[in-house]
Formats: sequence, structure tokens, C-alpha cells
Amino acid sequence: MAIAPIILRRMTSAQSVSGNVAQLKESATIAVSQRARALKAQGRQIIDLGAGEPDFDTPEFIRNAAKKALDEGATRYTAVEGILPLRQAIADVTNAHNACETVTPAEVVVTTGSKQALFNSCFALFGEDDEVLVPTPAWTSYYEMIDLSRATAVPVEGQASRGFKVTADDLERHATDSTRGLMLNSPCNPTGSVYTPDELSDLVRLAAERNWWVISDEIYRRIAYDGPAAGLLSVARNRERVVVIDGMAKSFAMTGWRIGWAIANPNLARTLTAFQSHTTSNATTVSQYAALEALKKKDDAEAAIEGMVGEYRRRRDAALQLLRAPGGPTVVQPDGAFYLFIDVQDTDPDSEDAGSAFTTRLLEEHGVAVVPGIAFRTPGWIRLSYAAAQESVVEGVRRILKLRNTLIGR
Ligand code: PLP
Repeated sequence: MAIAPIILRRMTSAQSVSGNVAQLKESATIAVSQRARALKAQGRQIIDLGAGEPDFDTPEFIRNAAKKALDEGATRYTAVEGILPLRQAIADVTNAHNACETVTPAEVVVTTGSKQALFNSCFALFGEDDEVLVPTPAWTSYYEMIDLSRATAVPVEGQASRGFKVTADDLERHATDSTRGLMLNSPCNPTGSVYTPDELSDLVRLAAERNWWVISDEIYRRIAYDGPAAGLLSVARNRERVVVIDGMAKSFAMTGWRIGWAIANPNLARTLTAFQSHTTSNATTVSQYAALEALKKKDDAEAAIEGMVGEYRRRRDAALQLLRAPGGPTVVQPDGAFYLFIDVQDTDPDSEDAGSAFTTRLLEEHGVAVVPGIAFRTPGWIRLSYAAAQESVVEGVRRILKLRNTLIGR
């Protein structure tokens, strides 16, 4: 059978578009999902462990709030930066989580998903000749967003034995006079690693000494298995050059509602708002009201999140039990998010990227979609999302182990 490799293509030829997007590549996660969909359309049964999307419905109390808001007229433009009650609720939740009292609504900009908050922050802060340190592996879009801002993403690889978490020394080794920023993500996509407060403190201290901007993507902070993941604001002494990104998508199973936010100093918040005013304007009005209800109804929200996180934990544990059997592959200990990052380099030690070949064979021959580590700038690894039914996760892991055993000749 001819196997179509999953490769990341440039989107367009350099002649037909401007230099702004000439280097743009399609997202690997989307490429895998598309291939999985195409195979399903041909009648194949595919276990999709590629998508980074909660498989739960948005909790009912949030959906009901949206219906009510629509009936009450939440159909018009709002302030570009979002409705004040939502920005207040975001400030309150942030202050409670970080045990800090400083965030005010003037520092909150509500965006169309956290993706927009991340892009706008990169675009506003970085430019030509700037370098931005990206602890790697990291979510595929950071590299593209930094590129789109015409800055250079500098991957900083931590040690696999530390869950790829970087140290201040690792960052220092990659810093130059052009370094202007640091992109953090804890809990991390794709590894599931969670930085401790001390580890975060070390990184923030170095960034403050060097006057770097720190963008901290905390979109998975509620999905953590050993208590809440530390937020950057709980350790940063000075917030002036810190931008915290968060949103509703992952913790509240609200991916399609497109609500995220940036928390930044008031001047930067105004700049982000002005930028947004010329591009997308306010995030969808009815979604803002739904998010407001989710953040305000704390008991209902906690019950919903606890239920989902409990389910993710059961799936993670079931998958780890299989993966950690003797002779199994190296897997990063996932303390948060809903991903397993698995080393498959030994399935083809001479290859520069055994992960992509493995991903392709796994999908085409065994009907399981995962994402190759190259998407996170870490060839030789694969990422499995356990935001899927437990039976699918377990069956998917069994097939991964079977393919691996075949390839390493066991
Ligand atoms: N940040 C990380 C690390 C992610 O994994 C994702 C989605 O996969 C996002 C941001 C984007 O989230 P949103 O749906 O809020 O745009």
C-alpha cells in the first residue's frame, strides 16, 4: 500500500503572496486531523488521538446562560476589549489563583480564543532582529506566530529526563543581545510537564534581570493532576514585562466559543486593544456572556472541571500503565494537560525523524491518529492526546506498542 507521508507544507508559493506569509506552514495537528477525516470518509475506522480538544460537551449551565443572553439581546458589538463584568471576573479568578491582588480589569483584554491573545502579544512585542526563546518541545503555533511577527524563534531544548523543562542555565546558553522574549507554557502542550513555583521563579528572575518579555500561556492551568499548576503571577515580583494568556477552551470544554484573554500592563493592554480594534474587534458577544457565567458560578464550574479532570486522570493512568510495562518506550511524566509525549526514535535509530514515519504508519496501517513530534520541533517523538474515550485511548496505546514492537524487532 502506498503510504502518504504527513509533511508540513508551506501554504503558498513565495510568488503569489507577500513576505508576511511566505514562510507560513500549515498546522501539523490540523494536517493529521484532515488525513484522519479523509480515511474515515473512505470508510476506515480511525481512533483519533491527534486533536487537542476536550471530548466533553460544554457544561449545561454555561450553554443555558448563552441561550438566555441571546434572548436578552447579546447580539451586538461590545467594547473591543470585552464587557467589563467579564474582565472583572477574569481579574478576580486570576487574583484568587495566584494569591495576588493586583490585576484589574484595565489589564485584561478579551480575545477570540487564547490563540488571538498569543498572536497579538507576539505581534505587539516582537519584530525584526528580535529573538524569542521557546522552551522546546512547544505548541506548534508559537514558532509560526513569532515568525509572523518577523522575529526569530530560538528553540531551547530541556532534558527529556526532566520532562523537557528548561532551566535558567538552558535559557542563558541560548540568549544573545537580540533576545527580547521568552515563551512559557505550563502545563505544557505537548509534554504535559508542569513547572514548580521554584522552577518558574528561576526563569522569571533571569528574564527580569535581562529585561525580557515573558509570555506565559496558562491555557491548561486547571488541568493538573497534583493540585493547581502555579501561575506566573504567583512568582513574578514585577509584572511590568509579563503577559499572561488564558482562556475558556480547555478547562471548560469551550473550544468553539472562542474566548481567551491576555493580562498585560495597562499600556500594553491598550495597545493590544487598539490592534484588535483594527482586525477582529470584540470577541463574540454571546460567548462573552457564557464565559462570564462560567467564571462567576464557581460551584458549578468547579464540579464540571473536577469531573472532566478526574476523567482525564483515569485515561492517563490507564495509558501509562500500558506504556510503562517493562521494555516500553520512554514517556514524559504528564502532570497536566491531556497529552502523552512518547519517544519512538528507537524504531528507526538512523532516521532523522523516526516520529513522522511512525505517525504515518500508525495512521495508515493501524488506524490511529497521533501528531509527530516534529510539529513541536522534536523529531523522534510522537504526541498522543487522551482527550478521547478511555477505550479509544487504551486501544490506541495497544496499537502504538504493537507497531513499536514490530519496528524494533520484538
Ligand atoms: N495554547 C496552547 C498551548 C494550546 O495547546 C492551544 C490549543 O490547542 C491554544 C493555546 C489555543 O487555544 P484557544 O482555543 O483558546 O485559541
